[in-house]
Amino acid sequence: MSDVIHLLPDNVANQIAAGEVVQRPASVIKELVENSVDAGAKSIKVLIKDAGRTLIQVIDDGKGMSETDARLCFERHATSKITSAEDLFSLHTMGFRGEALPSISSVAQVELKTKRHEDEVGTLVEINGGKIERQESVAVSNGTSIAVKNLFYNVPARRKFLKSNSTEFSHIEHEFSRIALVNPQVELSLYHNDQLCYQLRPGSVRERIVGIYGKGINVNLLPIQVDSTIVKITGFVGKPETDKKQNDHQYFFVNGRYMRHSYFHKAVMQGYERFLQPATSPDYFIYFEVNPSCIDVNIHPTKTEIKFENEQTIWPILLAGVKESLGKFNIAPTIDFDQEKDVMSEAFIPSNNPIPQLPKMNLDPTYNPFNTESSSSYGGGSHSSYKRETTSNWESLYEGFERGESPDF
Ligand code: ADP
Ligand code: MG
Repeated sequence: MSDVIHLLPDNVANQIAAGEVVQRPASVIKELVENSVDAGAKSIKVLIKDAGRTLIQVIDDGKGMSETDARLCFERHATSKITSAEDLFSLHTMGFRGEALPSISSVAQVELKTKRHEDEVGTLVEINGGKIERQESVAVSNGTSIAVKNLFYNVPARRKFLKSNSTEFSHIEHEFSRIALVNPQVELSLYHNDQLCYQLRPGSVRERIVGIYGKGINVNLLPIQVDSTIVKITGFVGKPETDKKQNDHQYFFVNGRYMRHSYFHKAVMQGYERFLQPATSPDYFIYFEVNPSCIDVNIHPTKTEIKFENEQTIWPILLAGVKESLGKFNIAPTIDFDQEKDVMSEAFIPSNNPIPQLPKMNLDPTYNPFNTESSSSYGGGSHSSYKRETTSNWESLYEGFERGESPDF
């Protein structure tokens, strides 16, 4: 019998990779905006039409590409970010797999315009379904613009898999927020069907959170800060009374990258123990900084699962950090009217027990776990700035700065 194995053509391999990397319009936005961040962009504009089905365009003012690179970037495993496998453990960029652009261009019609600051003219490349249709010199501004049109036009099965516009748009908002939260120094805007949805100015992490979620969240953000030799933790945890049954304001980032981490989530939840209503969970925006050699980012194509070498050591550090934040701000119980009503009506329900039980109070408002000698065991750092931060009038920073209206679906 003759041999049966053959190498797949690049285009087929790219479409297979696209199966993992490009699940929906939001994944395209993630990959393109991450590329813009890696290119050192200070300002990134995202334009979408029909929740990304017909158009996703990302325009940046980053370093741009040469004529040759503008073509090469669509080749499989073509990257400027790593050169050897060892580089995977000293990553300082979001990308490194060289997969995004070939994958995206294998399932869409893509127009790239790019120019480096040092070049007089830029380059335009058009590529449809992985096939280069056009390449020419053009007059464009510095930076890169990539327009991805008619996503999955050549893969009807994938197109059918897309959900309603409102669902796809909410995925887009999530991806956009994840990148925005971890790059507060970058100006970011998002337009949907020509309507401005987000306009985020460069600023601090707190300002960025407020820019995304609105002024109301500001008073509920408690700073968290731990400096230890193996991990630096910064960010904010939400006041317990802002807990929710379904909470999508829960973010972990490591070295500038969004990640999911159920083990660390448990540490946060344990920190809130006794503070939360049953079956609810709090907001958090927690940023870890670790030596890049202590994490493995390359365990999932979308890089949202990250393996930590020393997660068991980090767990108690995180737990202590959360407890310290809550304790430091003397979180006192607040009884809201709904809850109070329940307590009252329960007290008047006739039962076998004529004396109504007082509701059990689990909270100790003076609780501060770090009022002990052990407080310095994780490196501590100065916390005097916290007070200043909360008492200063943050709202005024955002006066006249309203989040754009979300589009009406
Ligand atoms: P990766 O990001 O993993 O390297 P991509 O397929 O996303 O792979 O991009 C391939 C290469 O194209 C990048 O390594 C980078 O050199 C270049 N590139 C992509 N997007 C941009 C951009 N917006 N600005 C400048 N260069 C870019
Ligand atoms: Mg990339």
